[in-house]
Amino acid sequence: MTRIARWFVLCLLSASALAASPDGIVAVSQPAAAAAGARILAQGGNAIDAAAAVQFALNVVEPQSSGIGGGGFMLVHVAKTGETFFVDSRERAPAHASADMFAPGGLPMAFPLASTSGLAVGVPGTLLGVDTALRRWGTMKLADTLAPAIELAEHGFRVNRFLAEDIANDDGRTQIQPETAATFRPGGVPLAEGDWLVQPALAKTLKLIASQGPDAFYRGPIARAIVKAQQRGRSELGDAGKGRMTLADLAQYRVAIRRPLVGHYRGWILAGMPPPSSGGLTLFEILKLLERFPLGDVAQGYGFGSPKTLHVMTEAMRLAFADRAVWIGDDDAAPAAQRALLNPGYLTARSALIRPDRRMDTPQAGDLTPWHAVQPKPARTRAESLHTTHFAIVDRWGNMVSYTTTIEYTWGSGITVPGYGFLLNNELTDFNFLPSADPAEGNPGTNDVAPFKRPRSSMAPLLLLKDGKPVAAYGSPGGATIINSVLNVTLNFIDHGMTMQQAIDAPRLSVTNATGKVSCEGGQAFMQPPFSPATQDTLRTLGHTGLGESGTDGCRETIGSVQAVVVDPATGLHHGAADRRREGTVIRVGY
Ligand code: GLU
Repeated sequence: MTRIARWFVLCLLSASALAASPDGIVAVSQPAAAAAGARILAQGGNAIDAAAAVQFALNVVEPQSSGIGGGGFMLVHVAKTGETFFVDSRERAPAHASADMFAPGGLPMAFPLASTSGLAVGVPGTLLGVDTALRRWGTMKLADTLAPAIELAEHGFRVNRFLAEDIANDDGRTQIQPETAATFRPGGVPLAEGDWLVQPALAKTLKLIASQGPDAFYRGPIARAIVKAQQRGRSELGDAGKGRMTLADLAQYRVAIRRPLVGHYRGWILAGMPPPSSGGLTLFEILKLLERFPLGDVAQGYGFGSPKTLHVMTEAMRLAFADRAVWIGDDDAAPAAQRALLNPGYLTARSALIRPDRRMDTPQAGDLTPWHAVQPKPARTRAESLHTTHFAIVDRWGNMVSYTTTIEYTWGSGITVPGYGFLLNNELTDFNFLPSADPAEGNPGTNDVAPFKRPRSSMAPLLLLKDGKPVAAYGSPGGATIINSVLNVTLNFIDHGMTMQQAIDAPRLSVTNATGKVSCEGGQAFMQPPFSPATQDTLRTLGHTGLGESGTDGCRETIGSVQAVVVDPATGLHHGAADRRREGTVIRVGY
């Protein structure tokens, strides 16, 4: 019997023998990566050990979404002390970055070119983030948590539907650089579902890290290869497209351990990701703008999917995203005025702009006087990518991890580090392309590029607490839609009384800017209950756009991929829930 087969038997036997004790749960968007985490839990590791194994395995089996060439935010809830932390391993701009680097001569570069050039590559943080979390809260060695990923890279795995689709619909990103093409399009033929993928160069890299630790990556041979790889530009951009990262930038990369931003909603406490992500602030702002509406009350015309509920959700999103565009960025580098967004007086005035009977005109960012007396113009935003990945883990002791991790766009920059087999991110394109700072207009340029700064993110790993006790940890990928996916699930769980799996399955609605084109989900059988044609017509009548012609079904999108773990407050038992929008997988490890 192989080691993995023995473990599965152990897992099943112990699950039935000791069903009363809380189990370890792993919820991941890809089954082989979920199995990697479950294996670590079965070996006696805790949630942080398992999270390390899942992240490394995802680098192998979901390489288009996350990996050591990227960054992320790991929420860690420590059961023993009741404390919650965020490990911020967001990529940073190199020392030679400048505010105008994506707009030389005042002309913004085209996103497809900028994001596939070395200029877009931020100093990667994932490996140091995982290592930091392991040293602080883990029980296993980095090398042990790398073992499942090394096996998957060395012996291979079967390409699933989602990876195959991302190769087929890659916007050219797996075709620009020869090393990326050789892995995912061997002989010029894109890998298809069911094909076997072996990644020897990646296996070699992970083994090197297992034996030499993160220094191999941040100071050693891998660092030299990263610096060289990101010096590649795109011919259309000339020298302006070449990356500015040096060996010193890699050696100086620092992880930040952050305390959560605390939000409150209908008696629940939420621990969310602070800046440099907009995830926590914008999510909490939307929730507070909505709190005065009885969203769960069907008798008053609200309830899940009713026009009233969807209308006020849309309006709250528009207001909060208008604020986000101006006020939120890396507050290690920018003024902290953004905290004023959660000031109760500000929120009351802002929520009063929502009229139940009519769509509001395009809102401006709020005036956060006394800091800024003038209404600043928003920085230009762009459509954000729909990839990245989220997983959640709880161990038998109650430690929890909720980890959103990314290389930014699907396939990141498309640059595979030659000889080392991993993709580099394009995270720096999350900065404003055109500098927006303008003291006369009161615009602080919060998300303009600057040396060492972290680009604004939308990632929103979240912990939900009731009576001081953790109840659920979850999050989602999806660029700016992340905030709305997490919002939809939170409302479904708290206001609409759904189980976490129902809350994830239900169709979502999202608006990610002030102009407010609505995206909504439908068209897949599991998305229950659907947004009805009559509801969509009412929204059109109220003035909402993005839903297409009257009488048609304008809800056909797929938004996000939420993975969650839940602690039943009554029994203390653990559950998991995963998203069928990808190959969401929950594995229970009994003891
Ligand atoms: N760059 C994105 C962010 O940090 C990654 C998330 C995503 O696209 O899914 O918000």
